Amino acid sequence: MKADFDVIIIGGSYAGLSAAMALGRALRNVLVIDAGQPCNRQTPHAHNFITNDGETPATISAKARKQVMQYPNVHFYNGTATAARENDGLFVIETDKGESNTSRKLLFATGIVDVMPAIPGIEQSWGISVLHCPYCHGYEVRNQPTAIFASGEVGFEFAKIINNWTKELTLLTNGPSQLTSEQITALAGHNISVNETPVTKVNHQDGYISNVAFADGSGLAINAMYAKFPFRQTCELPQSLGCALTEHGFIKIDEMQATTVNGVFAAGDNTTMFRSLSIAIAAGNRAGAMINHQMINEDF
Ligand SMILES: Cc1cc2nc3c(=O)[nH]c(=O)nc-3n(C[C@H](O)[C@H](O)[C@H](O)COP(=O)(O)OP(=O)(O)OC[C@H]3O[C@@H](n4cnc5c(N)ncnc54)[C@H](O)[C@@H]3O)c2cc1C
Repeated sequence: MKADFDVIIIGGSYAGLSAAMALGRALRNVLVIDAGQPCNRQTPHAHNFITNDGETPATISAKARKQVMQYPNVHFYNGTATAARENDGLFVIETDKGESNTSRKLLFATGIVDVMPAIPGIEQSWGISVLHCPYCHGYEVRNQPTAIFASGEVGFEFAKIINNWTKELTLLTNGPSQLTSEQITALAGHNISVNETPVTKVNHQDGYISNVAFADGSGLAINAMYAKFPFRQTCELPQSLGCALTEHGFIKIDEMQATTVNGVFAAGDNTTMFRSLSIAIAAGNRAGAMINHQMINEDF
C-alpha cells in the first residue's frame, strides 16, 4: 500500500517546522499537523536566539512557516492529531476534523505543557515575568528584585544560577524548604533569603508582577519570578504507539532522534530538559535528515 505522505510531522512549531524544511528540501512529501499552541506563546519577546533576538514568538513562527511553505511538497494542516496507529507497515494519523492520512515515517515535535500551581496570577504572568530560564529572559530583569519559586535541591541550584543575574534574590519554597542546613548557610552567605510561607497570589498588571502575597498576610515586592514547574507531554500519541519515556518523562530518543518504535522520531522540548528555540530547531533539523536517511537506506 502506498502512503499518502513520506512523513507526517505532528507539531508544527520550531522543531517541527525545522524538520519540515530539511525534509522538504530532501524532496519528501510531508504533512505538518499543528494545533498552534507553542509553549512560549505568551512571552512578549524571545531572546538568546541569534538573528532573531528580541523578536516576538509569533513573528519568528510566521517567518519560519512562510519559508517552509515555499516548498510545494510540504503541506500544512491547522488542527490536532487525535489518534495514531500502525497498519500494514504504515502509520495512520487521524485528526480532530475526522480526516485520516498515512505515512511511512512519523515525527513528534509536540512539546510539553507546564503544569502550574493553582495560585492566581502565575499562569497569567508565565513567560512575561514568571520565567523558566535566565538565558532567555534574565538579561531583561538583571539586578532587579527577583524571587525563585522552588524548594529543596532544585530551589538551591536555581538560586545559585540566578544569583549570576541579580543579587536581590528571595527563594520562595511555598511550605517547608526541604533545604539542608549546609544549603541554608550557603544561601545566607550570598544574601539570598528563604521564605517558607505559602504563596496565595501573584499580583501583576498584564503579566508584569508587582508583588507576591503570602498566607500570613505579608507580601514581597518583586519584578520577576523564576519557576520550574512539573510538566506533561502535550501529546500522548507517542505512548499510544509504544514509544518509551525516560524516567523524567521525556520521549526516549537515540542520537538519530529515533524513538524506541521503528519509524517514529521525536524532536524538541518533548525530548529534553534543555529548552530553547535554537536547541529545538537544531533537533528538528537533525530529525529531518535522519528520517530522510532512513528512507534512503530502505529504498536504495
Ligand atoms: C514561557 C516560555 C518562554 C520562552 N522563551 C524563550 C526565549 O526567549 N528564547 C528561547 O530560545 N527559548 C524560549 N523558550 C523555550 C522555547 O519556546 C521552546 O524550547 C520551544 O518552543 C520548543 O519548540 P517545540 O517545537 O519543541 O515545542 P513548542 O514550541 O511548544 O510547539 C509544540 C507544537 O506542537 C503542537 N501540538 C502538540 N500536540 C499536538 C497534536 N496532537 N496535534 C497537533 N499539534 C500538536 C502544539 O500546538 C505546538 O504548536 C521559552 C519557553 C517558555 C515556556
